[in-house]
Amino acid sequence: MSEELRVKFWGVRGSYPAPGAETVKYGGNTASVEIRVGERTILLDAGTGIIPLGRELAWTTPALADGARERAGEIMLLFSHLHHDHTQGFPFFVPAYMPNTRLHIFGPGGTPETLSAVLERNQSTETFPLGLREMASTKNIQSVRESQVIVWDEAGIRLAESSAGLSDEALIIRIHKSYAHPGGVYVYRITWRGKSVVYATDTEGYVGTDRKLVQFAKNADVLIHDAQYLEEHYRGQLVGFPSTQGFGHSTVTMASEVATASEAARLVLFHHDPAYTDEMVAGMEATAKSLFADSVAAYEGLEIDLTPDLSPKRRGEKMTMKLQTPSPLPLSHRERE
Ligand SMILES: [Zn+2]
Ligand SMILES: [Zn+2]
Repeated sequence: MSEELRVKFWGVRGSYPAPGAETVKYGGNTASVEIRVGERTILLDAGTGIIPLGRELAWTTPALADGARERAGEIMLLFSHLHHDHTQGFPFFVPAYMPNTRLHIFGPGGTPETLSAVLERNQSTETFPLGLREMASTKNIQSVRESQVIVWDEAGIRLAESSAGLSDEALIIRIHKSYAHPGGVYVYRITWRGKSVVYATDTEGYVGTDRKLVQFAKNADVLIHDAQYLEEHYRGQLVGFPSTQGFGHSTVTMASEVATASEAARLVLFHHDPAYTDEMVAGMEATAKSLFADSVAAYEGLEIDLTPDLSPKRRGEKMTMKLQTPSPLPLSHRERE
C-alpha cells in the first residue's frame, strides 16, 4: 500500500466562482480539497474545484473506469455544509457518472436522510437535466452527527461512536460542529498515522478566539482556515464594501489566532473573497506570515506533502513538511501547456 499523505487544493474561493484576469494566480473555483491517504481518496466539499478534480480522478484511477475489476473505485466526499459554493460542482463530478465508482458522501443534516434530500433537490427536474439517481455510480449518502467518527480501514468505510481501539493505520475523521456560520458548519479533522489535517472553512472568529475550535485543531499538521476578509472589509472601512461582521467568515487575524493558539504546524488561508484580486490575496498572505510564520494563501494546484519519512536513517526524527513550489498559474492553465 502506498504511504503517501497529500493535500491538494482544487478550489479555494468562497461564495461564488470568480474567473478572470485578476484571479489567475490563486484561482476562481469554489471550495474543493483533495486528500490522498495511501490508496484512499477523501474530498472536502464540492464547489466548482471538484470539476477538474473529477476529470483527473476519472483519468488516473483505473478502478473507476474498469467495470471488470472486482473492487469499485471508492471515493469519500465530506461536506462542511450545504451552501451553494460547497455543492455546485457535484452535478459535474465525472466519477459520479461512472458505474464502477462507489461514493461515500457524509455531511450535516437533521436526520440521516437530510443530505441526500438536499443533493436530490439540487438536481431536480426544474434545476438540472439529470437527477442524482441517474448518475451511474453507487452512492452511500448519509448525514452524520458531531459525536460520530468516520473510519476508513481494511474493513472499509463505516461510522463509529468513538475511535477507541482503532489502530494508527486506520484513517479517522472527527467532526466539530461550529455555530460560527449561518446554519452551522462541520469542521473535520482527518488523522492517519499521527498526522492531522483540519478543515475549518466558513467559520467566523470570536473575541478571544474560538476556544472549541482551538481545542479541536490542537497540534494539527495543517490547519485550513477561512480567511475571507481583510480587516477593513470586515469592519466596514473598505470603500465600496459594507461590513461583513456576522456573515460567518474570518479575517486573517482570526485565522492566525486559531493557528497560534492551537499550535498548528502550518496555516492555509482559504475561502478567498470572490471580489478580491490576486494582489489583495497576496497582501493577506503577507499579513498572515507576519502573525503566524508558516502561513500560505491557498491557490489552485497547491500541494502539501505530509508523507511520513520512514526510511531507517530518518526514523525517530521529527517529520518535516514539504511544500511544493508555488506555481504562478492555476492547474487548469498548466494542463494546457
Ligand atoms: Zn462558503
Ligand atoms: Zn457557507
